[in-house]
Amino acid sequence: MIIILQPSATREERESLLADLKTKGYGVHLSEGVERTIVGVIGTPERDKENLIERYEALPCVERVVPILKPYKLVGRAFKPEGTVINVRGVQIGGSALCIMAGPCTVESAEMIVETARHVKKCGAHILRGGAYKPSTSPYSFHGMGEAGLKLLAEARDETGLPVITEVMDTRDVETVAQYADIFQIGTRNMANYSLLREVGQARKPVMLKRGWASTIEEWMQAAEYIVSQGNYEVILCERGIRTFETYTRNTFDLNAIPAAQELSHLPVFADPSHATGKRSLVKAVSMGAVAAGAHGLILETHPSPEMAIKDGPQSLSPAQFEELMLAIAPVAEVVGKQMAQPAQVF
Ligand code: PEP
Ligand code: MN
Repeated sequence: MIIILQPSATREERESLLADLKTKGYGVHLSEGVERTIVGVIGTPERDKENLIERYEALPCVERVVPILKPYKLVGRAFKPEGTVINVRGVQIGGSALCIMAGPCTVESAEMIVETARHVKKCGAHILRGGAYKPSTSPYSFHGMGEAGLKLLAEARDETGLPVITEVMDTRDVETVAQYADIFQIGTRNMANYSLLREVGQARKPVMLKRGWASTIEEWMQAAEYIVSQGNYEVILCERGIRTFETYTRNTFDLNAIPAAQELSHLPVFADPSHATGKRSLVKAVSMGAVAAGAHGLILETHPSPEMAIKDGPQSLSPAQFEELMLAIAPVAEVVGKQMAQPAQVF
């Protein structure tokens, strides 16, 4: 259930309510909005079930108690009616900002990651992407440079000021990845890896959660709930295409998922047109569509020489195509009331 407090509720009243709930064995989460404070209350102990709503509604500091019947509660709109806005080194993710993350599928060398970082920054991207731990369908393909790749990402950040997003696949790597990255990426294959979700939920860094390639929107929301239930409220949802009968494209981009996820959740929603299409010729159009549908941002693959890329070359944009895409999405963003996010602050 959620407990909506009266605007006049005092700090003491709120603290005593929270203490009371915790003593009774509830999990308690706080959402402090501009107008209202909402308390998310998880797990009703059996002995406390009777007249629950009436009892809490009788408190003078409580405006309303609303039972939440959905299997996800903390990521739902009811808990936080205003959208979540995340700040990564001064880059706004969510709200009316459009944030672009771009870079290669995988880090290949110091030269290529710095060259890519410089180029995407020049074109107006905000965050550098690049895999160091790569999931691969085949056990025999390249699995990334590991910690050496993380170091190169951090060097590219030092050089350009762009914050870094990279995938973490294993609970044993969370601490190491946290030392270098600004945002954890949970890939499509790990959306339902619940121990990994819990682990990043305990870290204090934003997490991009890609939708599982065969997951429903509700399953995706519940995966996000795993992270948030551990106390990490900084989750970014990312639609990256789902598997359908279509084989012309690598996946099928589910445009519905963008407004649907925004209707259901307060979390920022991104799109990944690179993995959704698998074809660089389609990436610009799908990016424009995603922005028009209200996405808070895009994550895109680009490579200095896509034909030489170790991974995901066919869907990686050339430097010129990336520049063209950035020019194409700016007016679309404006039409839907979004502005390009401000660049990162360099400290
Ligand atoms: C990636 O971003 O390179 C990646 C592997 O993405 P996904 O998990 O969506 O396949
Ligand atoms: Mn990739």
